[in-house]
Amino acid sequence: MTTAALPSPLARSLDPLPGESLAGYVLRLAQRQDRTPNAVTARIGLRDERERAPAGLNLGMPPEMLTAFAWACRLTEEEARSLTLADRLESLLAPDEHRRQDSLMPAALAAWISPGRTRWCPDCLRGDDGAGYWRLSWQVPWHYACLRHRRFLHDMCPVCDNPVGQGRADGPFGELVPNAAVADLPPDVCRHRPADEQPVCGHRLSVLDPYGPPPPTSDALAAQGRLDALLGLEGPADPDARPAMAGETVPLGLWITALHGVGVLVRASLGLPGAPDLGPGALNLATYLSLPTLDAADLRRQLHTSTPPDSATTAAALIPAAVHVLDASSHSELAERLAPYRDLVREHRPGVWRSWLRQYPDPRTKRLLKRHNRWTEMAAVARADPPASDLRGRHLAQRILPPHDLLLDPYRHLPVTDGCLHRVTNILLWQRCERAPRRADAAAALGYTDFDTVDGTFLRIRRALAGAGLTAQYQRTLTELETALAAGPLTDWAARRAALADWVVTDDDWDALQAALAPLQKREGRQPDWDLRRTVIGQNVWEDLTGSEPFASPAFRALTDTKARVRLRAVSQSFRFNVVTGRLPGFAPVLDAYRQQVAQSLADGPTG
Ligand SMILES: [Zn+2]
Ligand SMILES: [Zn+2]
Repeated sequence: MTTAALPSPLARSLDPLPGESLAGYVLRLAQRQDRTPNAVTARIGLRDERERAPAGLNLGMPPEMLTAFAWACRLTEEEARSLTLADRLESLLAPDEHRRQDSLMPAALAAWISPGRTRWCPDCLRGDDGAGYWRLSWQVPWHYACLRHRRFLHDMCPVCDNPVGQGRADGPFGELVPNAAVADLPPDVCRHRPADEQPVCGHRLSVLDPYGPPPPTSDALAAQGRLDALLGLEGPADPDARPAMAGETVPLGLWITALHGVGVLVRASLGLPGAPDLGPGALNLATYLSLPTLDAADLRRQLHTSTPPDSATTAAALIPAAVHVLDASSHSELAERLAPYRDLVREHRPGVWRSWLRQYPDPRTKRLLKRHNRWTEMAAVARADPPASDLRGRHLAQRILPPHDLLLDPYRHLPVTDGCLHRVTNILLWQRCERAPRRADAAAALGYTDFDTVDGTFLRIRRALAGAGLTAQYQRTLTELETALAAGPLTDWAARRAALADWVVTDDDWDALQAALAPLQKREGRQPDWDLRRTVIGQNVWEDLTGSEPFASPAFRALTDTKARVRLRAVSQSFRFNVVTGRLPGFAPVLDAYRQQVAQSLADGPTG
C-alpha cells in the first residue's frame, strides 16, 4: 500500500493502554473525537471488503489494514498489533509459524473465544487508578477472575441479561463495536439492542452489580494466577513459567490444547451420576445438563468442544479441575486423575466421547487421554526411570522387610493377600532396578517358582489398585521403597537364598540348642514336641536369614500334606510370637545368637 492510499493521521490520537483491546481503543477514540465508533473505524481504516469493521478484527488485522490503522492513529505497527489477540496469545491462536488471517477464526473458536464477546471487571473498567478501559484478555474464556480485584469477571449485562460485546445474543461474529452507529455513549456501557426498533441498553457496566457472582475461591484464584503467568492475561507472561504436563515441560500451545481437551471432558461429566463434585461454580450447568427434558441438540451444543464455558464461575470450576489433571507428576497419575471424567463420559455420553476423540488435535496427548490400561503404562514408567541407586535385583528379598514394609500399609485394606502385595511389589522393584522388561525373569530371579500364580496376582492387584484409585500412589510408593531400600546397608539376598536353599538345623547345632533351651522350659504343664520345635526353629531362622516367603523353605517343601503345612505355618508363627513377647523366657537371646552364628557362617563361607 502506498502512502497515497493511507488515511491521513488523526490530529488527536491516543496511545493504547496496557492490555487494551482494539474494540476498547476504538471506543476511547470515539469519545475523544466525539464521533460514533462507526465514524471512527471508517476514518482509521478499519474496514473490510464489505465496508464493515467485524468483531474478528479483535483477533488480528490483515497486514494492509494494520499498516493503515497504525498510520492513521500514529502508532507503530507493533503497538497496533498489541491490541489484537493473535499478538498477545500467539500460542493460543497461532501455534505454528504460518499465522494467517483466515485461520484465526477457526483457531479462536476452537480455543473457546467468541470474537467480540467479552467479560469485564467493573473495577478495572471504572479505572480506580486512572483510566478505565476494555482489556483484550477479557475476551479470552481462560480469564475468569480479576487478580487485581480478586473478583470473578462479569459475563452478562445485569440489566438486559445479554452477553456483552455482541450486538445480538445469538450472533457470535458481529461488529467490532456493537451498534457502532449509536452516538453519545460512554465507553463503559452495554451497547446491546434488545430489538431492532428499541434503543441500546446503555447500562454502565463499570457500576458494580450487587447481585454479581460471589468472591472466587483461593483455588480458582491460584489456577487463574498460573494461567496468567503462562499466557500473560493481565500483563506480560512470566518468562520463568513453564507449562508442564505429566511432569514434563511441554510447549505452551500443546499445554493449552490439552487443557482445553481435558476441560471439555470435565464439563461433559457434569450432571452424570457419580461425577466428581466441582463445587458451586459448576452447579448451574450440572443441573441444566441433568434435566430429563433437555433435548439432544441442546446437549450437543452445550458440550461441543468449541462451546465456551457458559460463565466465569463455570470456567472457574472447570479450568482448575483441568489444570489439576495436567499437573499430575507422571503419565499414569495423569490418566488416573482424568479417569473419573473420561470413564463417565465414555459410558454415558458416547456420542460426546466419539466427537471429542475425532476433534482432539494432538495425537500425543490424545493417546494419553484415551488410555485404558493404566497398569501397562505404569510398568513402562517404572522401567523408564534411570537406575537411581546401587540397589539391584539381588538386593531384594522375597518379602519387603521391616521397617520398609510400613510403606505398604496404605494397600493392606485392598482385597488381596499380604503375600500378593509383597510379591508384586518386589517384582516391579526388580524390573525397575534391573531395567528388565520381563516379569517372568523378575519372578524367577526372586525365586518365585509358580509363575502362573504370580501372573494372576498381578491381575488381582492391578484391579484392586485401580478400583481404589490408588495406582498412582502405589507407583510413588515404589519409588519411595527403592530409595529407602537403597539407603540401608545392602544385603545380597539372592546369594542368601542360594546358600540356604536346602538349609536345616544340623544335628550338632540341635544338640547344642536343645541343651541351651531345655533348662529354660517350664517343668510343669505340657512339654514340647522337641522334634517339631527343631523344625519350627529352623523354619524361623531360615525365614529371617533369607527374607523369603515361608512356603519356600526346605521344611515346607519337604511336606506334601496341606494339613501338615498349615500346622507348620501356625506353630512357627505362634512360636515366634512367644519368643518375641517373652512367653518363653530366655529363648530370645539363645535363638538370636544361633541366628547370628548361621549368618556368620554364611558370610565366612564363600571367602573361606
Ligand atoms: Zn479488576
Ligand atoms: Zn445491557
